[in-house]
Amino acid sequence: MGKEYAVLSFFKQKKIDYLFLPEKNQVVIPCPHCGKPINMCTDTTEWDCHRCETNGNLINFIKGVQKGEIKSKIYNPKRERKELLQMIHKLRTETNREQIDKMKEKLDRLINYYKKEG
Ligand SMILES: [Zn+2]
Repeated sequence: MGKEYAVLSFFKQKKIDYLFLPEKNQVVIPCPHCGKPINMCTDTTEWDCHRCETNGNLINFIKGVQKGEIKSKIYNPKRERKELLQMIHKLRTETNREQIDKMKEKLDRLINYYKKEG
């Protein structure tokens, strides 16, 4: 965990949305040129974008960022789950409590099922 930490703190500092995949040594970030999600290796910091056919390392990425802000969001399953549970919680009332709780339970089981698969 040396370079990896530096890479992630760069994204945090620049407020660039990212999803860290520690088991793959990768971080998913928006392409600095087109905003499409790209994978950067946290060991080599190399990345390439299939959409706009650009590639490079962290240095090239930083140069790309300097041309403009990157506001694209990366799909983050953990964040989605949290938001979904908050939405469900808001829908919960005295009268539908049982159904909503059942739904929440089913959703959690489904998520855990796919977590094992992935
Ligand atoms: Zn691109």
